[in-house]
Amino acid sequence: MGEPQGHMKILVTGGSGLVGRAIQKVVADGAGLPGEEWVFVSSKDADLTDAAQTKALFQKIQPTHVIHLAAMVGGLFRNIKYNLDFWAYHGSLIALALPLQRKNVHINDNVLHSAFEVGTRKVVSCLSTCIFPDKTTYPIDETMIHNGPPHSSNFGYSYAKRMIDVQNRAYFQQHGCTFTAVIPTNVFGPYDNFNIEDGHVLPGLIHKVHLAKSSGSALTVWGTGKPRRQFIYSLDLARLFIWVLREYSEVEPIILSVGEEDEVSIKEAAEAVVEAMGFHGEVTFDTTKSDGQFKKTASNGKLRTYLPNFQFTPFKQAVKETCTWFTNNYEQARK
Ligand code: NAP
Ligand code: GDP
Repeated sequence: MGEPQGHMKILVTGGSGLVGRAIQKVVADGAGLPGEEWVFVSSKDADLTDAAQTKALFQKIQPTHVIHLAAMVGGLFRNIKYNLDFWAYHGSLIALALPLQRKNVHINDNVLHSAFEVGTRKVVSCLSTCIFPDKTTYPIDETMIHNGPPHSSNFGYSYAKRMIDVQNRAYFQQHGCTFTAVIPTNVFGPYDNFNIEDGHVLPGLIHKVHLAKSSGSALTVWGTGKPRRQFIYSLDLARLFIWVLREYSEVEPIILSVGEEDEVSIKEAAEAVVEAMGFHGEVTFDTTKSDGQFKKTASNGKLRTYLPNFQFTPFKQAVKETCTWFTNNYEQARK
């Protein structure tokens, strides 16, 4: 007996992370449909860098659909330190000493191959706008992924992610698989990694403001504050992911982003955190720290042709909700 007609069994890898938790919440809040069964997994269920464990997971779950989020993820400063690990395992003592090294190219290859083997009908993987060429025209669009080298700060992560797009096209060309990918901009929200050294800018700033408030010290923003980013709230991204899973049938990836007009500087992002946290202390900029990529302004034109009326949560509201979540969940938050 196979699955009933129309039944969807959706496996979400990386289900315990920032984006995975947001999809869990949106599904639990009513976005899940009758006939859909959602299975969220973390590294505790299977280490996806390991081909045998990945295969066993897919054979056990037999997903008809996969949202593939699992990855070694980090902010600018973690990427600068560990480009090799962001690409793949390298077997050195340094790698063995790193408990969190995740080896993205292995994870992606194992997941796509296991999905193919069990006959998964659709896989939606996750790329990122930081994988686009560094020297480019703006706004960046979906056609430009392979046009030139990525920014030097995160080339390991970027090339590993770009290879997902290569594999998706190859699985389609050779086997007709609907394996596709989305390209989100900088994501933030509840359950983010608030570790200051390893995490992304918004969770890092939220944690730093929390500490500055408790100790009465200044907030130090790293870099000049001039680089620009488009931030997407994890709960908005979750709703878009579910739409892509159900409705989007192209193999070509799709950028999931707020509009170009909603891009903000790091200084403006820091001001939003300061306001949301009610911080009244001094704010300084440590210009000895890297600015990373100056900007990676992406077009959401393709998304808008499909979903002209999608409403993004206003940035300040989403920052406020994330700050409240962090303050209320300080003990359990990843930090
Ligand atoms: P995250 O919070 O760090 O979560 C990572 C997830 O991957 C966790 O569930 C983790 O499981 C799982 N994972 C890591 N290594 C694994 C392994 N070896 N085997 C099995 N599972 C493993 O990351 P996120 O921010 O939600 O990112 C989700 C996706 O979005 C990633 O593909 C990322 O590249 C992409 N993305 C993120 C951003 C952003 O700003 N955060 C922007 C663009 C794209 P454990 O909890 O068990 O460790
Ligand atoms: P990126 O968007 O991939 O570059 O990654 P991030 O989310 O880590 O953002 C990096 C940008 O934020 C750079 O311009 C940093 O100089 C700036 N920034 C300012 N303060 C912080 C901080 O506390 N943590 C991080 N990760 N970046 C910061």
